[in-house]
Amino acid sequence: ARLAGDAEPRPHDPLLSRTQFRSRQIERAMGQALDQEEFEVWYQPQHGLDDLGLIGSEALLRWKSETLGQVYPDEFIEIAESTGFIKELGEWVLERSMQDTLKLPSDLSVAVNVSGLQMTSDTIVSDVNRLIRDTGFPASRLCLELTETVLFDGTDDLVEKMRDIQFRGVSWALDDFGTGYSSMGYLSKLPIDKLKVDKSFTLCLSTDPAAAPILVAISDLARGLGMTLLCEGVETEDHLNFLKTLHCAEAQGYLFGKPMPYSEFATYVEQEKSD
Ligand code: C2E
Ligand code: CA
Ligand code: CA
Ligand code: CA
Repeated sequence: ARLAGDAEPRPHDPLLSRTQFRSRQIERAMGQALDQEEFEVWYQPQHGLDDLGLIGSEALLRWKSETLGQVYPDEFIEIAESTGFIKELGEWVLERSMQDTLKLPSDLSVAVNVSGLQMTSDTIVSDVNRLIRDTGFPASRLCLELTETVLFDGTDDLVEKMRDIQFRGVSWALDDFGTGYSSMGYLSKLPIDKLKVDKSFTLCLSTDPAAAPILVAISDLARGLGMTLLCEGVETEDHLNFLKTLHCAEAQGYLFGKPMPYSEFATYVEQEKSD
């Protein structure tokens, strides 16, 4: 439904830049997209580095809009945050990804991205608890991902909510680690179970001589703090072989699989099981 007072953006309005115009279009289309079932949750496999077995997936939103075509999360998440729609959308992703993962024939984990704005909701703790109860998904198989920026700007209130959710058995991963303002001091004070190293570090291993020593240092840090380490952006055998020399437990990237629709991921799981 169109919001009251939200006039149709006009393409030739000289006061609207091209990106502003696009944002307004996305904002308007997003309102109906959930009801019209235009959103989908795709899954990207995560593997353990000990035996390379499949351990779970990351849930990633996809939106095929009737009016705008394929819109990627890098574009629409920010807009959903600015309008507050992310709270509704985030709850939907959580529910759908737990339901989907339960239908799979293995006890896989699922990692769901949580936006900083969702964490400001007074009901986030009870929402997560309710969704776990309603879906019957084991809390120990649910991981929630927050980015560094969110934590850095975080308040005592945020940390308390994180602790409440962790107390319920859910784990927390720090997403895109290394790209924000990594203040080492705050790391030990937060209820973080896993560091997810940003894909940019893995991806530039072959071109940037600094990438390897940085990854070594991050892996020592994770080990020292007793956190699980997952590296993203694993695209080649070379990447994998390097990560095996680190204290890195898990990997995610195109080498294993790109994000895929649920049905395709179910087939992937079947294949991995029979291997
Ligand atoms: P992210 O959480 O860092 O997600 C990982 C992104 O890296 C995904 O992009 C994935 O497709 C991509 N990727 C994975 N493996 C590789 C690889 O080997 N090489 C390369 N080059 N890229 C790889 P995607 O799906 O476009 O998601 C972009 C961002 O959108 C996510 O970054 C996340 O911050 C946000 N996002 C996606 N779904 C949700 C959601 O449900 N809620 C919230 N709050 N944010 C979401
Ligand atoms: Ca993520
Ligand atoms: Ca990431
Ligand atoms: Ca990212």
